[in-house]
Amino acid sequence: MKCLRPITEICQRLCITVFQDKQRIKTAVWVVDPEQPDPQVMARAGSVIRGGGLVAFPTETVYGLGANALDANAVRGVFVAKGRPQDNPLIVHIGAVRDLEGVISEITPMAEKLIPLFWPGPLTLVLPRDPAIPAEVTAGLETVGVRMPAHPVALSLVRASGVPVAAPSANASGRPSPTHAGHVLTDLNGRIEAIIDAGPSALGVESTVLDVTGRYPVVLRPGGVTVEDIEAVLGVEVRVAGEQNEVPRSPGMKYRHYAPRADLLLVTGPPDAVRREILELAETDRGRRRVVVLARVESAGDYPGLEVVPCGRRDDPDDVAAGLYAALRQCDAAGADLILAEGVEVRGVGHAVMNRLRKAAKEIIRLGAEE
Ligand code: AMP
Ligand code: MG
Repeated sequence: MKCLRPITEICQRLCITVFQDKQRIKTAVWVVDPEQPDPQVMARAGSVIRGGGLVAFPTETVYGLGANALDANAVRGVFVAKGRPQDNPLIVHIGAVRDLEGVISEITPMAEKLIPLFWPGPLTLVLPRDPAIPAEVTAGLETVGVRMPAHPVALSLVRASGVPVAAPSANASGRPSPTHAGHVLTDLNGRIEAIIDAGPSALGVESTVLDVTGRYPVVLRPGGVTVEDIEAVLGVEVRVAGEQNEVPRSPGMKYRHYAPRADLLLVTGPPDAVRREILELAETDRGRRRVVVLARVESAGDYPGLEVVPCGRRDDPDDVAAGLYAALRQCDAAGADLILAEGVEVRGVGHAVMNRLRKAAKEIIRLGAEE
C-alpha cells in the first residue's frame, strides 16, 4: 500500500521553517537517580517550568518536553522547539488525581472507573477541558488529554512545578520519540532550558489516548495500556479510531510520525514469507542504496551479508516496544537509505508497535494476516 501524504508533509515543512528560526540557548543536562531523584535538582527544574521554561524529563513511556500548561506563551514555545504542527494538541500531566480540578470541567463515569486502576500509568484520558487550560494546549478543542505519569522523576517534576505540565514527546516533530536523554539532546539541544537524564524509558512507546467523553470509549492512539485491559475494566467493546479509514479524531493521527530519516518499508505476515521478501527486496537494492534490516533478535542471523539492527525478542512485544525508537535512530546513525522492517505480532503492546511502524512506513507489504 502506498501512503500519499503531500498536504501533511507541506504542513510539517512549514513548521520546520519556524523550528529553524528559534534562537539557540544553552541546554543544561541534569543527571538524577530514576527512583530517588535529588530534590534540589527537581525543585530547580520545577521553577524553570513555573517560570515559563521548557524541561525535558523521563516518563515510563518516552521522554516528554514539559511546559507550564497554564502559560500560553510557554506552551507556544513547545510547538516552536519541536517544530510541531499547531493543530496537534498536547497531553497535560498531573501529579495527583485531585489536580484534575482546574484541568477538566467534568469527570465521566468511564473515567471514574479507569483512573483508580490505571493511574499513575500510560493511559491518557480525553475529557471536557476546564477554561483555565489555554487553547494552545488543546489546539482549540473543547476537550483535553490528561494523564498522571508513573515514573518517579516525572511525578516529582510535576509536583515540584506546582502547575499542570503540558508535555508532548521530547523529539523534533516527525522523528522517532526519545527513549534516552541522548535522543532528546540530538533533537533539541540549544532549543530548551534543560534535560533531566534518568536513563532509558522502560515502556518505549507513548501512552494510550482514550476518548471517554462519548457513549462508547474510543482509543485514539494505541499505547502502553492495551485495548484488552480497558475492555476488561469497562465491560464494553472499545473502538480503535482510524482502523476504518475514517477522518482522524485525534489530530495527531494524521501526520507522518515516529519516522527515521531513511525510507522505511514494513513487511508483515508469516515469519518465513517476511524473511524471503526482505532478502529479495534487499537484493533488488544491492549497490544502489544503503539497506538496513530491522529484525527480531532471533532472526538477526537470517540475513547473511546484510546489516541488521536487532530490536526485541520474538513473542515478546514489550521487549520490541522498549527498543523500537532507539533501533530506528540506530538505523539513521548507520546511514541507512532504506530500512526493511519485520512486522511484529499484533498482541498486547504489539498493537502500539505496529501502529508506530505503519505511521513511520513509506510503504507496507502485507503477505497475509498481520496477527
Ligand atoms: P504526543 O504528545 O506527541 O505524545 O502526542 C499526543 C497525542 O495525544 C496526539 O496524538 C494528540 O492528537 C493526542 N491528543 C491530545 N489531546 C487530545 C484531545 N483533546 N483530543 C484528541 N486527541 C488528543
Ligand atoms: Mg509525539
